Amino acid sequence: GPAPEAAQPALDWLKAHQGKFGLFIGGKWRDPASQEWFATLNPANAQKLAEVAQASAVDVDEAVKAARKAFIGWSQTPGHVRARYLYAMARQVQKHARLFAVLETLDNGKPIRETRDIDIPLVARHFYYHAGWAQLMESELAGYAPLGVVGQIIPWNFPLLMLSWKIAPALAMGNTVVLKPAEFTPLTALLFAEICQSIGLPPGVVNILTGDGKTGAALVEHPGVDKIAFTGSTEVGRLIRKATAGSGKKLSLELGGKSPFLVFEDADLDSAVEGVVDAIWFNQGQVCCAGSRLLVQEGIAERMYTKLRARMEKLRVGNPLDKAVDIGAIVAPVQLQKIQQLVQKGVEEGARLWQPSWAVPSEGCFYPPTLFTEVAPASTIAQEEIFGPVLAALTFRTPEEAVRLANNTRYGLAASIWSEDINLALDIATQIKAGTIWINSTNLFDAASGFGGYRESGFGREGGKEGLWEYVKKAESPHPKAQSRK
Ligand code: NAD
Repeated sequence: GPAPEAAQPALDWLKAHQGKFGLFIGGKWRDPASQEWFATLNPANAQKLAEVAQASAVDVDEAVKAARKAFIGWSQTPGHVRARYLYAMARQVQKHARLFAVLETLDNGKPIRETRDIDIPLVARHFYYHAGWAQLMESELAGYAPLGVVGQIIPWNFPLLMLSWKIAPALAMGNTVVLKPAEFTPLTALLFAEICQSIGLPPGVVNILTGDGKTGAALVEHPGVDKIAFTGSTEVGRLIRKATAGSGKKLSLELGGKSPFLVFEDADLDSAVEGVVDAIWFNQGQVCCAGSRLLVQEGIAERMYTKLRARMEKLRVGNPLDKAVDIGAIVAPVQLQKIQQLVQKGVEEGARLWQPSWAVPSEGCFYPPTLFTEVAPASTIAQEEIFGPVLAALTFRTPEEAVRLANNTRYGLAASIWSEDINLALDIATQIKAGTIWINSTNLFDAASGFGGYRESGFGREGGKEGLWEYVKKAESPHPKAQSRK
């Protein structure tokens, strides 16, 4: 098990704030206008971590005003100076990496191995990468200007990483930000706000408002916001699209997925099995681009399933602070129930369920790695995003059938193709409609590479040069003056 002191730095940080956090507006901390707070819990043991402010429309208005005011100076700040702040953010995230990792694991339930080795390093990388673009904006994006105030709404599955995906490009391009973290996982965003203070970021350039969907809706509706960037469910994405229609607000949406993981008969099966582990059991399967549909060629299907079951038997589910744990806690009871209901539906629809012989901890939000075989292509578990550690396996005979099954979805976020025949793999890749396609690999991300979906997975790209277009517009004059909408 974990050393008892493993959580200590984060618990000390929470204690130093008396376990209660306000809103970060205009560089200062303040209580919410409503005087309402809500608890954020550790899903591994249901213990309360802190009380967090519930921002209302009044607070949203204050934050947008602060961001609008800050935009005048920030948009006129030379790119190399903006870059210095982004470099400072990257370095501060690295300096406090352990605190961030533990805090994220406590708030979200994901294994410390992931927050330590994946989430937090990628966050630093994202700020470093975009610091570079801040310096290059004047030359490489000549004739483009920042949009103004950006409202950003993020989910709970990669709390700090999604914050960095949103804030880094927005600031690099000279915008100011009002960001709302998800209600289940607000803590690392609040620690990040302290970093903004400690590096002397001008007040109002970054504002952090904690709250629920009502806070998000108020941000979406605020007339002083020039752009909304949203990552979350397809349902809420649809609401936001309606709410912003005709408003003149720019919009980017990163939504759900049901990404296929294709294994051809010539694939290296042992590598493919490790790939599956990463594709669907990374972050408890709560990954928008999770390889949640295993499409396996008929001749090797039984062999693949046998290997997979043996590997699943060895996975460890439990205390996310334990460095040996592979699968941590599901983020919240409501998500656990959603997973249980969809698994129940899969059984009712006639698919064959398999789970390891061991039991998951009875306390806390845990769910075992789950494999469904004999899944019908039109069934619920083949079509709907489960957002949990549940894999639905289907078989195909020919490459044509593989492509047809892979594209038989309303989503189009990612795909993973496994074959030793690179010509086959590349050929299949061109026929699959998805924003990211991995060959003999999965879940690889980099700040320099654009990420985003087709169809109901949303539109707009994050990362890479293409991600920058979401945060600029054609300049109206060679020396754009800061504009004020409001
Ligand atoms: P969610 O849509 O319920 O919540 C996302 C955020 O939106 C939260 O901050 C929430 O408070 C806010 N929100 C809720 N209702 C709102 C409203 N009416 N107006 C404005 N904001 C509102 O999603 P979730 O359950 O937090 O996240 C899981 C979903 O996110 C999954 O479907 C997953 O596929 C998707 N996701 C997509 C990506 C991607 O990059 N495509 C990344 C991560 C997660």
